[in-house]
Amino acid sequence: MSSKVHLGHTARKRFGQNFLTDSNVINRIVGAIAPDNEHVMVEIGPGLGALTEPVAAAVDKLTVVELDRDLVERLHQHPVLKHKLEVHQGDALQFDFMQLVQPGKKMKVFGNLPYNISTPLMFHLFEFAEQIETMHFMLQKEVVLRLSASPGCKAYGRLTVMAQYFCQIVPVLEVPPTSFTPAPKVDSAVVRLLPYETKPWPCKDVNVLRHLCTTAFNMRRKTLRNNLKLLLSDEDFAQLGIDASLRPEQISVPQYVAMANLVIDKKA
Ligand code: SAM
Repeated sequence: MSSKVHLGHTARKRFGQNFLTDSNVINRIVGAIAPDNEHVMVEIGPGLGALTEPVAAAVDKLTVVELDRDLVERLHQHPVLKHKLEVHQGDALQFDFMQLVQPGKKMKVFGNLPYNISTPLMFHLFEFAEQIETMHFMLQKEVVLRLSASPGCKAYGRLTVMAQYFCQIVPVLEVPPTSFTPAPKVDSAVVRLLPYETKPWPCKDVNVLRHLCTTAFNMRRKTLRNNLKLLLSDEDFAQLGIDASLRPEQISVPQYVAMANLVIDKKA
């Protein structure tokens, strides 16, 4: 059982604090992030600086968003980091990432995310996808499986469809609990999300796609016809060439986009 105290800080469970302590894993993540000065480098949840220090060493400036005031105070006092960091104390779920964008410079966002907020945080970040070059996140392994799932898999769901609508998903590395202090109860994995410059299946209104996915996956055991009956008729499914007796996890991302676009056209 690993200690809850690391570098003199008691890990706070409610902030999802599991600090990375494995230098091999840290080096591989930093290599995957490929820090540079051509992008606005943004870290979510820098904590005690496991990723912050090596990334900051490679660039002129690093912007961080951290919720824990004690950790923010430590970052302000850090002898080296205080000269490189722009620190925002607050909740990354509420943070307006647009304020960080600079003319001609997209963001590279990364973080060992607090697992309790990782899914809503990714949904929040998708809203800024056009301003993001790459995202690298440490997540619960199960979430990485959901992000990269194919239709027909148990892990395929709303998160899969929305993530694959915005981004290409590349699993990078699996990480055991022993790489953290304190050790989490679950396995972890690092994933790379690459927002599309040009989306392969553009949707006319992403809010409609989001609503359609939420509605479709609300009852996974039921058919599309049943779950989407308020949005699409049998004639609509026939027009799209989609079998309405299938379950939501059997439908591909382009098929979800086609359904959303038809819902939009019908409203127009
Ligand atoms: N990056 C450090 C590391 O790898 O050792 C810490 C990772 S720890 C899993 C998650 C970090 O996110 C903690 O520093 C925690 O305080 C911070 N955090 C938790 N909730 C947050 C939120 N809503 N917004 C921003 N930071 C948050």
